[in-house]
Amino acid sequence: MGERTLRGARLGGQSFEDERGIEFAARQQSGYKCQKGHEFEVTMSVEAEVPAVWECPRCGAEALSTSGAEPVAKAEKPARTHWDMLLERRSIKELEDILTERLELLRGGEIGPAHLHRSNARKSKSKKTA
Ligand SMILES: [Zn+2]
Repeated sequence: MGERTLRGARLGGQSFEDERGIEFAARQQSGYKCQKGHEFEVTMSVEAEVPAVWECPRCGAEALSTSGAEPVAKAEKPARTHWDMLLERRSIKELEDILTERLELLRGGEIGPAHLHRSNARKSKSKKTA
């Protein structure tokens, strides 16, 4: 944790009109300050996720965002897991039914490790699963 000062500077006056007078998509100014105290602002689209760290244009060191964004607390959108994908296709109820069904088969020796198979001993009504 550095001695990052959160100042009201970037909330202040400066209104940056586009140099060419063209109205662009909404932009935002993101303030950064490097370890050596160099402060600068980066203009980016408001849709852009403000990076917590930016390279200082003066010394090349890592500059931290003065907006309070922490490099570690990077709010990444959680990756879609297999579980998420599964839930998009099946409801919990369905999954429970399937689980119950499979557990019954497993306990009945229908599926699972070969040495547990009891299906050889009795007639299996279900097709053998590989
Ligand atoms: Zn610097």
